[in-house]
Amino acid sequence: MLPICDICAKTGVLCGACETKLDKGELTPLDVELSGILYNLGSGEIGFEKAIDTGDNVIIITQKEAVGKVIGKGGKNLKTLSKKLGKKVQVIGTGKLAELIDDFMAPTRIIGVNTVYKPDGSTIQKVRISKMEKDKLNIEVGTMQNLIHSLTGDNVEIMFE
Ligand SMILES: [Zn+2]
Repeated sequence: MLPICDICAKTGVLCGACETKLDKGELTPLDVELSGILYNLGSGEIGFEKAIDTGDNVIIITQKEAVGKVIGKGGKNLKTLSKKLGKKVQVIGTGKLAELIDDFMAPTRIIGVNTVYKPDGSTIQKVRISKMEKDKLNIEVGTMQNLIHSLTGDNVEIMFE
Protein backbone atom coordinates (compact mmCIF):
# COMPACT_ATOMS: atom_id res chain seq x y z
CA MET A 1 0.00 0.00 0.00
CA LEU A 2 1.15 3.49 -0.84
CA PRO A 3 -0.11 6.68 0.84
CA ILE A 4 -1.78 7.66 -2.45
CA CYS A 5 -3.77 5.40 -4.77
CA ASP A 6 -1.99 3.30 -7.37
CA ILE A 7 -3.40 5.20 -10.33
CA CYS A 8 -2.15 8.48 -8.88
CA ALA A 9 1.27 6.96 -8.21
CA LYS A 10 1.40 5.58 -11.73
CA THR A 11 0.29 8.71 -13.60
CA GLY A 12 1.70 11.37 -11.28
CA VAL A 13 -1.65 13.16 -11.48
CA LEU A 14 -3.61 13.27 -8.21
CA CYS A 15 -7.28 12.34 -8.05
CA GLY A 16 -9.71 14.39 -5.96
CA ALA A 17 -9.35 12.17 -2.89
CA CYS A 18 -5.55 12.29 -2.86
CA GLU A 19 -5.55 16.01 -3.64
CA THR A 20 -7.78 16.59 -0.59
CA LYS A 21 -5.46 14.55 1.65
CA LEU A 22 -2.53 16.63 0.43
CA ASP A 23 -4.42 19.88 1.08
CA LYS A 24 -5.33 18.74 4.59
CA GLY A 25 -1.72 17.84 5.32
CA GLU A 26 -2.47 14.13 5.74
CA LEU A 27 -0.02 13.65 2.91
CA THR A 28 3.12 15.58 2.13
CA PRO A 29 4.57 16.38 -1.30
CA LEU A 30 7.37 13.99 -0.32
CA ASP A 31 4.83 11.15 0.20
CA VAL A 32 3.50 11.85 -3.29
CA GLU A 33 6.93 12.02 -4.92
CA LEU A 34 8.13 8.86 -3.20
CA SER A 35 4.94 6.99 -4.10
CA GLY A 36 5.61 7.69 -7.77
CA ILE A 37 9.25 6.63 -7.57
CA LEU A 38 8.51 3.42 -5.65
CA TYR A 39 5.57 2.53 -7.88
CA ASN A 40 7.84 2.67 -10.89
CA LEU A 41 10.73 0.87 -9.20
CA GLY A 42 8.59 -2.03 -8.03
CA SER A 43 5.85 -2.13 -10.69
CA GLY A 44 3.34 -1.32 -7.98
CA GLU A 45 4.60 -4.03 -5.60
CA ILE A 46 6.38 -1.79 -3.10
CA GLY A 47 4.41 0.02 -0.42
CA PHE A 48 5.16 2.32 2.50
CA GLU A 49 3.20 4.25 5.11
CA LYS A 50 4.84 7.61 5.33
CA ALA A 51 8.04 9.45 4.63
CA ILE A 52 9.75 12.03 6.78
CA ASP A 53 12.23 14.60 5.62
CA THR A 54 14.65 15.40 8.44
CA GLY A 55 16.74 17.84 6.45
CA ASP A 56 19.74 15.71 5.53
CA ASN A 57 17.85 12.43 5.40
CA VAL A 58 14.60 10.94 4.25
CA ILE A 59 13.14 8.30 6.52
CA ILE A 60 10.68 5.86 5.00
CA ILE A 61 8.31 4.12 7.39
CA THR A 62 6.86 0.87 6.16
CA GLN A 63 5.43 -2.43 7.38
CA LYS A 64 8.18 -4.63 8.80
CA GLU A 65 7.63 -7.24 6.05
CA ALA A 66 8.06 -4.63 3.32
CA VAL A 67 11.42 -3.22 4.46
CA GLY A 68 13.42 -5.60 2.22
CA LYS A 69 11.39 -4.66 -0.84
CA VAL A 70 11.90 -0.95 -0.29
CA ILE A 71 15.65 -1.46 0.14
CA GLY A 72 15.87 -3.75 -2.89
CA LYS A 73 18.48 -6.34 -3.80
CA GLY A 74 21.86 -5.24 -2.48
CA GLY A 75 20.39 -1.82 -1.66
CA LYS A 76 19.57 -1.17 -5.31
CA ASN A 77 16.32 0.73 -4.64
CA LEU A 78 17.87 2.74 -1.82
CA LYS A 79 20.59 3.97 -4.15
CA THR A 80 18.03 5.03 -6.76
CA LEU A 81 15.92 6.76 -4.11
CA SER A 82 18.92 8.63 -2.70
CA LYS A 83 19.89 9.79 -6.14
CA LYS A 84 16.39 10.97 -7.06
CA LEU A 85 15.70 12.66 -3.73
CA GLY A 86 19.23 13.99 -3.30
CA LYS A 87 19.35 12.79 0.31
CA LYS A 88 20.41 9.80 2.34
CA VAL A 89 17.50 7.40 2.72
CA GLN A 90 16.78 5.22 5.74
CA VAL A 91 14.01 2.62 5.97
CA ILE A 92 12.27 1.82 9.23
CA GLY A 93 9.80 -1.03 9.73
CA THR A 94 6.84 -0.57 12.03
CA GLY A 95 6.93 -3.28 14.61
CA LYS A 96 7.43 -3.69 18.33
CA LEU A 97 8.06 -0.45 20.18
CA ALA A 98 11.53 -1.50 21.30
CA GLU A 99 12.60 -2.35 17.76
CA LEU A 100 11.09 0.82 16.41
CA ILE A 101 12.99 2.92 18.94
CA ASP A 102 16.19 1.07 18.09
CA ASP A 103 15.68 1.72 14.40
CA PHE A 104 14.93 5.37 14.92
CA MET A 105 17.95 5.95 17.11
CA ALA A 106 20.44 4.05 14.95
CA PRO A 107 23.39 4.42 15.03
CA THR A 108 22.97 5.97 18.47
CA ARG A 109 23.28 3.47 21.30
CA ILE A 110 20.44 3.30 23.79
CA ILE A 111 21.52 2.99 27.43
CA GLY A 112 18.15 1.77 28.60
CA VAL A 113 14.37 2.07 28.44
CA ASN A 114 12.26 2.44 31.59
CA THR A 115 8.52 2.31 31.81
CA VAL A 116 7.19 5.03 34.09
CA TYR A 117 3.64 4.62 35.43
CA LYS A 118 1.72 7.82 35.87
CA PRO A 119 -1.03 8.35 38.49
CA ASP A 120 -3.74 8.40 35.79
CA GLY A 121 -2.80 4.87 34.72
CA SER A 122 -0.98 5.86 31.55
CA THR A 123 2.65 4.98 30.95
CA ILE A 124 5.66 6.72 29.50
CA GLN A 125 8.66 4.94 28.06
CA LYS A 126 11.78 6.83 29.05
CA VAL A 127 14.54 6.15 26.57
CA ARG A 128 18.01 6.98 27.90
CA ILE A 129 20.78 7.97 25.54
CA SER A 130 24.27 9.15 26.28
CA LYS A 131 24.56 12.89 25.70
CA MET A 132 27.89 12.20 24.00
CA GLU A 133 25.89 10.62 21.17
CA LYS A 134 23.30 13.35 20.78
CA ASP A 135 24.84 14.54 17.52
CA LYS A 136 24.35 11.15 15.88
CA LEU A 137 20.56 11.39 15.94
CA ASN A 138 19.00 11.85 12.52
CA ILE A 139 15.76 13.37 13.74
CA GLU A 140 15.05 16.12 16.21
CA VAL A 141 13.96 14.70 19.57
CA GLY A 142 10.48 16.26 19.69
CA THR A 143 9.72 15.10 16.16
CA MET A 144 10.91 11.60 16.98
CA GLN A 145 8.72 11.42 20.10
CA ASN A 146 5.68 12.49 18.06
CA LEU A 147 6.45 10.02 15.30
CA ILE A 148 6.83 7.09 17.66
CA HIS A 149 3.59 8.08 19.35
CA SER A 150 1.69 8.31 16.08
CA LEU A 151 3.03 4.95 14.93
CA THR A 152 2.56 2.95 18.12
CA GLY A 153 0.30 4.97 20.41
CA ASP A 154 3.02 4.77 23.08
CA ASN A 155 4.26 7.83 24.92
CA VAL A 156 7.99 8.13 24.66
CA GLU A 157 10.35 10.55 26.30
CA ILE A 158 13.92 10.69 25.13
CA MET A 159 16.47 11.73 27.73
CA PHE A 160 20.15 12.43 27.51
CA GLU A 161 22.41 11.60 30.41
ZN1 LIG B 1 -5.63 9.15 -5.79
